[in-house]
Amino acid sequence: MITALEQYDPQIYELIRQEAARQSGSIRLIPSENYVSRAVMLASGSCLTNKYAEGYPGRRYYEGQQVTDLIERMAQQRATKLFKADHANVQPYSGSVANLAAYLALAKPGDTIMGLALPHGGHLTHGWCVSITGKMFNSVQYTVNPDTGRFDFDQIEKLAKKHKPKIIISGATAYPREIDFEVFGQIAKSVGAYHVSDIAHIAGLVVAGIHKSPVAYSDIVSTTTHKTLRGPRGGMLLCKNEHSQNVDKAVFPGLQGGPHLHTITAVAVAMAEADTPEFIAYAKQIVKNAKALAEKLLEYGFNLISGGTDNHLILIDLRNKNVPGKKLAKALDRARIVTNYNTIPNDPAPPFNPSGLRIGTPAITTRGMKEEQAEQIADFINEVVENIDNESAIEQVGKEVLLLCSQFPVPDHFIIPNKNNGI
Ligand SMILES: *Cc1c(COP(=O)(O)O)cnc(C)c1O
Repeated sequence: MITALEQYDPQIYELIRQEAARQSGSIRLIPSENYVSRAVMLASGSCLTNKYAEGYPGRRYYEGQQVTDLIERMAQQRATKLFKADHANVQPYSGSVANLAAYLALAKPGDTIMGLALPHGGHLTHGWCVSITGKMFNSVQYTVNPDTGRFDFDQIEKLAKKHKPKIIISGATAYPREIDFEVFGQIAKSVGAYHVSDIAHIAGLVVAGIHKSPVAYSDIVSTTTHKTLRGPRGGMLLCKNEHSQNVDKAVFPGLQGGPHLHTITAVAVAMAEADTPEFIAYAKQIVKNAKALAEKLLEYGFNLISGGTDNHLILIDLRNKNVPGKKLAKALDRARIVTNYNTIPNDPAPPFNPSGLRIGTPAITTRGMKEEQAEQIADFINEVVENIDNESAIEQVGKEVLLLCSQFPVPDHFIIPNKNNGI
């Protein structure tokens, strides 16, 4: 297919080639990113992209569903087995749509929802003001304790009692600690609220049993499929049987049209991969690598929000280093280390130039890197911080990064399609 692409659209082919080179020749530390397997890539680029299948298996609005029904059922079965859930909806196009569908399954526009504020590590779709979720619902936002960087359950409970939300959302996009979903579930129950947990970032850690699953304590669990779960880009909802019809109706016809069957096919492949001892070992190594990276950064005098990490990500408070997050992220990118600048709790700096940097280990762990390499990456980050205005020092780090990348190539079965491997 790529060979055909080279022939018919050499401009796009060349850009894909450049992006593949960037992905293999850089240390990718954005905690929401990963490398999918060749099998996932093939399923995702398959002929299933050609098929319309509005509705659900056995109840479609178009004919020709002999195969698609089998695929979607297989994806649903793999999801309910992997997450030990009653029901799975595998159609959401992304985590954002999955969240909106979860809210619409349990509440009406104008109802009160309560989630973690974006600048404190929450996701846009947890009711932040610029998101539709903050506009169409009456959104109440809780924060983390700025001193500890952790949830303050007394504050959350007080807010819940005061505002009596219809839904309490747990989960985060920049929270380095294990989340106690059971407590969120108890608080929700105590005020008569539904509990929606969002495990977009940590789904891989949950299926590997490293972090406690929220399934038992949630009315609906929302996730992406492409972060630590290492599948194609997509979203998924898991729920108890009592909510299954509302969830399905909220996704289709509530929010979406035809499901992306090529993505659902690839999600099914990724879930089979995640249901293996190899994946459990992978997920354990993600956390080991994050802890090793965090320890080394602490030795270099970096301040980490919450003092460290329990998961795949680290949030660095850069104020004591006198380097703004954006400036550091851009310098690191020139040194082939790809990160994102991020707000820290109660950030005194503006959101477009915040005081934090967010990094994570899912992608480097897929390349087979271990604690030793994680520590080496901390050395590189420190080197760039110390030489933030010295372009030749930054260039030197970039050369060392390239060497490390060549020692840990993207494994063969994780290779990015190009004309040499014929796909
Ligand atoms: C990434 C993320 C999402 C959104 O996923 P998209 O696929 O980018 O729409 C939702 N919730 C959380 C907590 C996330 O981290």
